[in-house]
Amino acid sequence: MDSVLRGIPASAGLVVGPVHLLRWEVPEVRQRLILDEDIEAEIARLHVAIARAREKLVTLRTRAEAWAGATEAAIFDVQLSMLADDELLLAVEALVRQNLGAEKAFDIVLLDWQQRFARSSSPMLRERVGDLTDVHIRVLSILLDLPDHDPVDVPKGSNAILVTHDLTPSLTLQLDREAIGGIATESGTATAHVAILARSLGLPAVVGLRRAAAALKGGELAILDGTEGTLTISPTESEVADARTRAEADQLRDEELRELAQAAAVTLDGQAMVVRANVDIPEEADLAASSGADGVGLMRTEFLVVGRTNMPDEDEQYRAYRKVLEAFRGRPVIIRTYDIGGDKLPVGGYPHEANPFLGWRAIRMCLDEAELFKVQLRALLRAAVHGDLRIMLPLVVTVDEVRETRTLLGEAEQELAERGASFRADVPLGVMVETPAAAVACDTLVRDVDFLSIGSNDLVQYTLAVDRGNVNLAPRYTPLHPAVLRLIREVASTGAQHDLPVGLCGEMGSQPLTVFALIGLGVRQLSVAPRAVPIVKRLIRSVTVTAARDAVTAALASGGTAREVELVLRRRLRVALGEG
Ligand code: PEP
Ligand code: MG
Repeated sequence: MDSVLRGIPASAGLVVGPVHLLRWEVPEVRQRLILDEDIEAEIARLHVAIARAREKLVTLRTRAEAWAGATEAAIFDVQLSMLADDELLLAVEALVRQNLGAEKAFDIVLLDWQQRFARSSSPMLRERVGDLTDVHIRVLSILLDLPDHDPVDVPKGSNAILVTHDLTPSLTLQLDREAIGGIATESGTATAHVAILARSLGLPAVVGLRRAAAALKGGELAILDGTEGTLTISPTESEVADARTRAEADQLRDEELRELAQAAAVTLDGQAMVVRANVDIPEEADLAASSGADGVGLMRTEFLVVGRTNMPDEDEQYRAYRKVLEAFRGRPVIIRTYDIGGDKLPVGGYPHEANPFLGWRAIRMCLDEAELFKVQLRALLRAAVHGDLRIMLPLVVTVDEVRETRTLLGEAEQELAERGASFRADVPLGVMVETPAAAVACDTLVRDVDFLSIGSNDLVQYTLAVDRGNVNLAPRYTPLHPAVLRLIREVASTGAQHDLPVGLCGEMGSQPLTVFALIGLGVRQLSVAPRAVPIVKRLIRSVTVTAARDAVTAALASGGTAREVELVLRRRLRVALGEG
């Protein structure tokens, strides 16, 4: 008997493969007291477990180095040094000498260290909290004799469906793409970063599959449908055959879409649009450049940091940005400065905040840590000589943030000039409109910026006060809410009045229905996942601006709920496409 679990479609595509369960969570540890005469044996057991964890880390390190490079592999060095730390080991031993079982002693010390690191004033220590958690899970799993669940342990070619509670970007980056065919997570939403990364990596993904792990044993065959948002467990033979046929049909359509990639993005009534690609990691640049995108509308630089324990230095960043610029051969490349904090640095140890999405993140953190920010600005200015680079600031709410950045850019230029480095000084500076403040008051920004880009993922979250990553709120995360549409229209028209380019780089730019709405709202530039470029171009080439504008007007007059707006838009789009 099959059973179908329903979640949220996060990255399109179909995969038939065995389930690989990854329980990467700190296991629950029960208190266990030991007798005085057992203390030495318990300490010996602890040392054996630590030695095994170290062996495992050495193996992982060697493998990671082979397929992800030395920089990624360095994550494991930090974890190895933690396991060799005398202070840590002595603290655990001291608790065992007070008759605590080794697993509880280790648990208590690790929790204590994590809290101390998280509160530390040193960014280096704060960034290590994630490594401590990894070490915590690894050693406890050995002490408690739990099965080993490393994502990299999946044999190559198995096309496995990785099922886990929550996949952090650092774990996602460690995935062996030759082994994993798709991702299913219990938590998350379509705009969570695991979903965005899965789309970048071209891996089908379904998120928000609540209680999926409890329904699975691991190893059983399943069908993951990233388009429908389903996971079919133990499918029948005919379901498997059907899924394989559909996967082949999808591939055929892919070929048609590849042809479209080279076509111009012009509406039927002659309005030229700009379709650019979102790039999350520099390695994606070549794929994005061949997707038919007219440049990069958003490069998320925080993925250079995720999964690491130190910040990339100026040269490393320069090389990463240069790689993207060179892949796009003179076409515009908009690179966003670090959007670190909130949901973006799970491995990192930024201070625990009660409301991280309203917290110390993105441009706020960068301006407060000016030296860290200037490393990035210098790398960007140096890379700018290799193409048409533009710099974009995330989470801006006031023009002061732009002005302060311009001051730092001036300092960065001066520092580079003093060093005799080659750089470009007149790099355009734009901001993301991701908060109601920036949208409502975007006329206060226009004189100080060279372009605006609507970050709809966050704009929806902040306008509706709905956490974009909270699976319980997923049905309430409605990009077609009239409040969101009105804000977008306002920004597009303010931009047009001031002759300022206005783009949109959130997920709304990737779905045909929302693209239709955006055309009607006056947005003329979109930046989308590379794989969505041809789909978006096809939609643009099939509609008129007039039809889109009329559809939005009718939708906004329809009553007021996102659902009503959606129904009207759907009907109008079908008519525009000649489908009914
Ligand atoms: C957005 O908020 O729409 C956006 C593009 O940025 P991110 O998804 O990285 O927050
Ligand atoms: Mg954002």
